[in-house]
Amino acid sequence: MKIVNQQIIKETNLKRIYTTIGNEPGISRAQLAKETELSRATVSSLVDELIRMRFVVDGGASDINSIGRRPNMLFVNDAETFIGVVDWTGEGIRCVIIGAGCTIVKESFSTFDLQNWSIDEICNQIDQNIISEIKGDNILLGLCIVVPAMIDPVSKQIISTVINIEENNTIVSELKKKFKDIPVAFLNDTACLAYAEKIFSNIRESNFVYVNIEEGVGATLFMNGEFLRGSNGMATQFGHFSIDRNGPKCRCGNRGCFELMVGENALGHRVEQLAKDKFPESVLAHIPSKEIKFNTVRQAVNLKDECAITAVSMVAEDLAFGLNNLISLYNPELIVLGGRGAQLGDYFMSEIKKNMLSNGFTRLVNNVSLRYAKQNENAKVKGAAKIYLDKFLVITENPTGDLFI
Ligand SMILES: [Zn+2]
Repeated sequence: MKIVNQQIIKETNLKRIYTTIGNEPGISRAQLAKETELSRATVSSLVDELIRMRFVVDGGASDINSIGRRPNMLFVNDAETFIGVVDWTGEGIRCVIIGAGCTIVKESFSTFDLQNWSIDEICNQIDQNIISEIKGDNILLGLCIVVPAMIDPVSKQIISTVINIEENNTIVSELKKKFKDIPVAFLNDTACLAYAEKIFSNIRESNFVYVNIEEGVGATLFMNGEFLRGSNGMATQFGHFSIDRNGPKCRCGNRGCFELMVGENALGHRVEQLAKDKFPESVLAHIPSKEIKFNTVRQAVNLKDECAITAVSMVAEDLAFGLNNLISLYNPELIVLGGRGAQLGDYFMSEIKKNMLSNGFTRLVNNVSLRYAKQNENAKVKGAAKIYLDKFLVITENPTGDLFI
């Protein structure tokens, strides 16, 4: 005889109802029943329970003109339930409070000394800007720590070549110890951006890749609609995929890594070298490579600066080479390019496409759409909150000190 655990069924159904309301704000009980294929009575009782727990609010009758009684609209409780998101980058810490409907309520940014920061300092920031800001009876559903790094679920270590942390760090366990009563999730930044793009831009393709081009380069892959290998999205280290086995040595140990050839610093170095060797008249010729950013180069391209145009073409050629290899391995339907790299604009995009078509596995490459990300600079923190709500939030238990990696 199979024993069915009623508690698990209830949690699953509550979560389905809650997630559907989150994805379709204003949905009625009748529509919910239709979409979840649960009976109207079951839906009503689950919705009542979610309202009683303050996860959901009844927004009253809708304005749609219809004959007879107008259905009541349901929303997740954006005013009383929150997620705290800590966006940790090379520049500092951004603490953001996000309502469960994914609206940003409050945020603060603090820079820190990259060489001498301490875990206590970070905990204080979180305490001051997130924990103490959740007033009265309001509920903090969870805390997400977003890092531009790989998070190893086995050793519970953060491995990063972008933020300054020690190799054998204990950041995960120390933060968990400090916030022991709150569920804490550690998430990779590219995974959060990718999830925001998938949800908020309504991506229909079930196999897609999000490539984040910043100082470093990262990628998150979705296969059959789900993160490839876990919600922290770290199935690959795409930035350390080699595109030149004789290339320069990377700090990861490999040679000719993508990140060395395509990231923002790489573009600066290329421009500097090209200006020195071939284009001394370039508008970028006397700018130190460190100050040459994606948008600086884009402005020069708009001015028809030959040095900038050549540098962008070279980066596009290398990026296309890497993307074509990714296509041969995973055969995605869509590739989205995000991060500051998107500032390189139309010329960069057209060069990438041209190079992809001239070198790749033609049949596969022809079937891939390539475009820039549509979500804005808040995508990372909103994506983190949404991953937490969809993948980790447990409704039937009081929030306890779970750790999600
Ligand atoms: Zn590398």
